[in-house]
Amino acid sequence: MCTYNQTDKQMKTICEHGQPEKIFPTLQWDDIDTVLLDMDGTLLDKHFDDYFWEQYVPEHYSLKHDIPIEQAREKLLALYRDVEDTLDWTDLNYWSHELGLDIPELKMRINHLIGVHPYVIEFLEFCLTMRKKLFLITNAHSGTLSIKLEKTSIGPWFDRIVCAEEIGVAKESVEFWQRLEETLGFDKTRTLLADDTEKVLAAAESYGLGHLIFVAKPSSRKQVCYSSKYPAIEFFKELIPRTGTLIPG
Ligand SMILES: [Mg+2]
Repeated sequence: MCTYNQTDKQMKTICEHGQPEKIFPTLQWDDIDTVLLDMDGTLLDKHFDDYFWEQYVPEHYSLKHDIPIEQAREKLLALYRDVEDTLDWTDLNYWSHELGLDIPELKMRINHLIGVHPYVIEFLEFCLTMRKKLFLITNAHSGTLSIKLEKTSIGPWFDRIVCAEEIGVAKESVEFWQRLEETLGFDKTRTLLADDTEKVLAAAESYGLGHLIFVAKPSSRKQVCYSSKYPAIEFFKELIPRTGTLIPG
């Protein structure tokens, strides 16, 4: 799901007024045995979430309440911000109740917009070949998760999928990462996290996670926006080492 937190707003401002220089990743794969991957914006195109919350839901809300679409959008964006970085933000039942709309049903209607970013499958295949432990770690609600897994079929690549609702706090909290370690039992110094939300990376960094990657192109419809703090990629092919092996002709 998309987020409306401070970091995103600040980053949007930065990107509109010139952006930070890209920090290139310098991962040593021998130092890593666990890979944690975010879902929305990282593996999947965030265009679906942006369109859903910023356009599709306001359209339906404006029809239901007979108010102009702009007024509906403004009201909804304020409601989204009120619960940013909390589990309510990702809770479909919360929004169905709050807005008087069937949010899962609306998501299903535009599920054709759900898509996997380029080179994601190649990267998952690489991790599997290198025998890394692979976990999908998402703030997404279990209802959203099942719609997306059904549409994209990426579920079987992972050793386990963890929703923030299972942990009890959102990924933006340092506590999330402590509890996740207790749940999964990884060595945090040998673990990599890739995420498109800087605030999530900052929480993981405070907790002491060893390797962090910022995904700088979460939506296929928006421009690349680098982080001023974290090494960034646009596509996961940047993390797959080139072997340089030539196949004999
Ligand atoms: Mg994300």
